[in-house]
Amino acid sequence: MTVKLRAEHVFKSFGRTQVLKDVSMDLRDGEIVALIGPSGAGKSTFLRCVNVLEIIDSGRIEVDGELFGYREAGDHLQPLGDKEASLQRSRIGMVFQHFNLFRHMTAVENVAFGPREVLGRDRAEATRQAMDLLARMGLTGREHHYPRQLSGGQQQRVAIARALAMDPSLILLDEPTSALDPELRVEVANVIRDLARERCTMLLATHDIPLVEDIADRVVFMVDGAVVEEGPTEQILRSPVQERTGAFLTKMTSRA
Ligand code: ADP
Ligand code: MG
Repeated sequence: MTVKLRAEHVFKSFGRTQVLKDVSMDLRDGEIVALIGPSGAGKSTFLRCVNVLEIIDSGRIEVDGELFGYREAGDHLQPLGDKEASLQRSRIGMVFQHFNLFRHMTAVENVAFGPREVLGRDRAEATRQAMDLLARMGLTGREHHYPRQLSGGQQQRVAIARALAMDPSLILLDEPTSALDPELRVEVANVIRDLARERCTMLLATHDIPLVEDIADRVVFMVDGAVVEEGPTEQILRSPVQERTGAFLTKMTSRA
């Protein structure tokens, strides 16, 4: 299977705080990987680096074999300008904890915006595709609602439709169910399960261990900016090697 995402020796600091310390991981095409770990581990920062929302200090990130965030300039690397960075970003679907929809646009406008503005699709085609995606997310009848007229679970499903509308190479989800009440969590988790069944390549940062167990092929456990342990989901969840992994999982599952 081909490698979709390759991160090698990624380092990232904010001021004097080192947030990612030598993070490496691979995702193969069609693979679903869960990124777990305590708050502050660097999960969001890592996803933001892959999506070129942050520029890494050193190391390499490649998506589909292409260097992300930088261009090769002789024997060194040069950060990309805004335009090139946003072009790379458009190939990744990103779903945030707090949905981040455009407040002044309806559901269908939110979903059709990227394809129109970035991919240059015409209005009718982008709208038709957005309506289809919203239907797939169980949002028929809500297409012309504004975010404020939708529940959190509905807003997050619009956000997932918006990510899919760009035909992304890879989908990054940053705690997509964490801001939701339990009953709304289920509807978003179900949509994510459907994507997993279709083998959309996904890197999912989450505290939802049952969802991880259900859909992830592999689990990466991070603490304090570094990968502590990774492996097949079943192995990491049932018989982790590292003590810290076991302690974290015990805490997570007793809290639920
Ligand atoms: P996680 O998603 O695993 O909870 P984050 O990636 O959000 O972790 O944060 C990792 C660490 O980086 C935290 O200590 C956080 O305070 C710090 N951090 C994240 N973003 C910034 C930023 N823009 N400026 C300074 N520190 C940041
Ligand atoms: Mg986070």
